[in-house]
Amino acid sequence: MAVVEVRCPDCDSLNVVKYGRQPNGAQRFICQNPPCTRRVFLLNYQIKPRPTVTRQQIIDLALSGADVQETAQLLRLPQESVMEVFQLLSRFSLPPGNPQERHPKQPRALAG
Ligand SMILES: [Zn+2]
Repeated sequence: MAVVEVRCPDCDSLNVVKYGRQPNGAQRFICQNPPCTRRVFLLNYQIKPRPTVTRQQIIDLALSGADVQETAQLLRLPQESVMEVFQLLSRFSLPPGNPQERHPKQPRALAG
């Protein structure tokens, strides 16, 4: 049987016990380390990252020039989700659309 050590995210103490459940069923824990100020916490917060395949599809569409609205319609995703990936892309200097529009000071490459 696998045993998972539960540590308090604040004080790193193992002096932690189960403490009921969230309305969504997630297990709550409480830290019993007296000086700790955190007390109640969840082991796994319910953040579900988008599957890599979807993210890659968004990136592919962005690189092929699709805008947020087109990408959202094609992949049937909310525009907010597409926007998140576009914003991530812009951090890595891979902006969607024409990169020269975002860097007007750079000399334009000659076509052909
Ligand atoms: Zn603690």
